[in-house]
Amino acid sequence: MHQNDLMTTRPAHANPSNTDVLIVGGGPAGLAAAIAARQKGFEVIVADRDRPSIDKSCGEGLMGDGVEALRALGVQIPAAESFSFQGIRFVDSGSRVEGGFLSAHGIGVRRTTLHRLLLERAAKLGVQFSWECRFTGIEARGLSFDGSLIRARWVIGADGLDSMLRRQYGLDSHLSGSRRFGFRRHYRIAPWTDMAELYWGDACQIYVTPVGPEEICVAVISRNRQLRLDQALPMFPELRARLKCASTFGTERGGVTHSRVLRRVARGNIALVGDASGSVDAISGQGLCLSFRQSLALADALEAGDLRQYHRAHRRLMAKPLLSSSLLLALTRHTWLRESVLRVLASDPGRFARLLSIHAGPRGSRESDRHAVVSLVFQRLNGSD
Ligand SMILES: Cc1cc2nc3c(=O)[nH]c(=O)nc-3n(C[C@H](O)[C@H](O)[C@H](O)COP(=O)(O)OP(=O)(O)OC[C@H]3O[C@@H](n4cnc5c(N)ncnc54)[C@H](O)[C@@H]3O)c2cc1C
Repeated sequence: MHQNDLMTTRPAHANPSNTDVLIVGGGPAGLAAAIAARQKGFEVIVADRDRPSIDKSCGEGLMGDGVEALRALGVQIPAAESFSFQGIRFVDSGSRVEGGFLSAHGIGVRRTTLHRLLLERAAKLGVQFSWECRFTGIEARGLSFDGSLIRARWVIGADGLDSMLRRQYGLDSHLSGSRRFGFRRHYRIAPWTDMAELYWGDACQIYVTPVGPEEICVAVISRNRQLRLDQALPMFPELRARLKCASTFGTERGGVTHSRVLRRVARGNIALVGDASGSVDAISGQGLCLSFRQSLALADALEAGDLRQYHRAHRRLMAKPLLSSSLLLALTRHTWLRESVLRVLASDPGRFARLLSIHAGPRGSRESDRHAVVSLVFQRLNGSD
């Protein structure tokens, strides 16, 4: 497909457009929602204030369930532009423990590549795009984008963490929240492992995702908005030594990561998807996967004409990632807990693999997942097995 086919931009002051589904935000969530809705036969317009290629600070790891959801959206990630990782390795002051995925492998892929693949799929299905088209408010006759109007039967907010659409429709109220900051940079170096690695420290965590045969993505996450990779790397001498001879490329990008649960993700004919609909801390590596699965659930609800169905599905989809990100965030706060958990996992690698399959494997019931996670981790801490 020619790049120009993906770049349709509506004239700024065209007559009001009508469509079945209007999606505000053309990031991964907006594009996934567009694909899922189009797959159900809806006419879809995606409007974004930016224009492709859209990049963002991201660890660039997709867990197995994310890869599976992408497949349901008809998106395949070519092996030549990505890297399959087979599990997760935790590294903490000399100790290391790793767990392999029991079912589907994960994929590391550059954010811009993922965006391009989603865009190509959406364009192929006939989604229309309005780039450089900023949502500015709600008017009686439709949504306003820098002066032009778009009317739609369904409106989807996929405009990210600070969603303006969410605010304007009064869906901002949330139950919980925490905020951290992340910076990522790419290094040209052949991955030294087929695992995604998470390096634990008291002040920050660094995770390393192989994203190609000769490229890795390194991201630091902390509560300190000033902490960049150059300051963080000396806290991890082993990793710093590995990266010493590797060249960097592209820009270091920063972003905010939130853990936030909204009270409502839909109202009337409005629904939120992706980070706009609540989010989990980046350490869980679940943000993209959630967006894809939410998009599929949202399309089902649109087809049924009932967004309450989406609200319920959204709750179910958030349950596991929220649980794992709470657990992982607890490990960032309490060194004693982290050391104990890593000791437990190291004593039985099968236990780590089972935890991973709950975290990123096929969906079980909320209760059984919660029970499994809590019992797997804490039964050993309590001295039983
Ligand atoms: C440091 C870091 C590391 C991460 N690592 C991972 C990881 O390894 N794996 C993973 O799965 N997730 C990860 N995440 C989370 C993941 O990046 C997000 O969950 C994902 O970007 C959400 O996509 P989105 O489409 O909802 O939002 P965004 O990607 O933020 O897209 C929102 C879009 O809306 C557009 N927009 C905003 N306002 C307007 C407006 N007024 N009008 C029109 N358009 C607008 C923006 O231009 C943008 O294109 C990480 C996040 C961070 C910060």
